[in-house]
Amino acid sequence: MIYNYHTHTKRCNHATGADREYVEAAIKAGIKTLGFSDHAPYDFPAEIPEYSYFRMKKEEGFEYVESVRSLAKEYASDIRILCGFEMEYYPDYHQSQMDYLKRFSPDYLILGQHMLGNEFPTILPREAGDLHLSYYVTQVLAGLATGDFLYLAHPDLAGYGFSPETVAREYRRLALGAKRMGIPVELNALGLREGRAYPDVRFFRFAAEAGCKVIYGVDAHSPDAFLRADIEERAKKIALEVGVSLITDPIL
Ligand SMILES: [Zn+2]
Ligand SMILES: [Zn+2]
Repeated sequence: MIYNYHTHTKRCNHATGADREYVEAAIKAGIKTLGFSDHAPYDFPAEIPEYSYFRMKKEEGFEYVESVRSLAKEYASDIRILCGFEMEYYPDYHQSQMDYLKRFSPDYLILGQHMLGNEFPTILPREAGDLHLSYYVTQVLAGLATGDFLYLAHPDLAGYGFSPETVAREYRRLALGAKRMGIPVELNALGLREGRAYPDVRFFRFAAEAGCKVIYGVDAHSPDAFLRADIEERAKKIALEVGVSLITDPIL
C-alpha cells in the first residue's frame, strides 16, 4: 500500500523504535503518505487518579507533534508525513478531549475503541456476556457519528467469545452504520502479525455485504512492521475472499 495512517511511537509504552526509523522503514516499503497516530494523551478530569500506561503522557504531546512535524519537513521530498492520534470515544469526556487536542492541531484522528464506558471505571466487562458486544458496537457507532474520525481502526477487536447469533447481529449493525456514515473500516495488520482474533472474516463479510470502504492499516508498533510484505499479501487475500476491495489511494 502507498499509504498508512496507523503508526505508533514509543511514547505509548508498548511500541519500540525511534520516530525516524518508522519514517525510513515506511519509505523503504514504498509508502507515500505516512500518518502517525499514536495513542492520544487524555485530559481526564482531576478526580481520576490513574495514569494510563498504554498512551503517551500529557506532557509528551507537544514533543510528539514537534518530532513528527520536523521529520515531515526533513523527509518532504521522499514521503508525505501527517500527524494524528488514535483515540477512544468516551461519551462523558469526548467534547473536553476534543477541545484539549486542538492545541496539537492534529491532521486527523482515528477511532480505536479498546475499552467501554468512559474507561474509568471500566464498565460492562466480558462477564456481561453478549451484552458486551452490543455495547461495544453502540459506543463505536456513537463515536463515529461525532464526525471526528477519519476511520475506524480494528472494528472487529471485540467480537470473540460471543454466540454466533450475537456476532452476526452486532457486526451487521456495525458494518451498516459505518457504511451509512461513509466511514472506512480498517483491516488491521497488527492482528495478522500477532495472530490475534482479528481481522475477523465474520465482520468483513458483513462489510462486503454493506458495501463498506475498507482501509488497510499497518498499526505499526515497531518500524519493521512496514517491511512485512507477507502480511500485506495475507490481508489482500482476506479482502479477496470476503469480497471487499481495499482502498488503494490515500484518503487524506
Ligand atoms: Zn497500541
Ligand atoms: Zn493503534
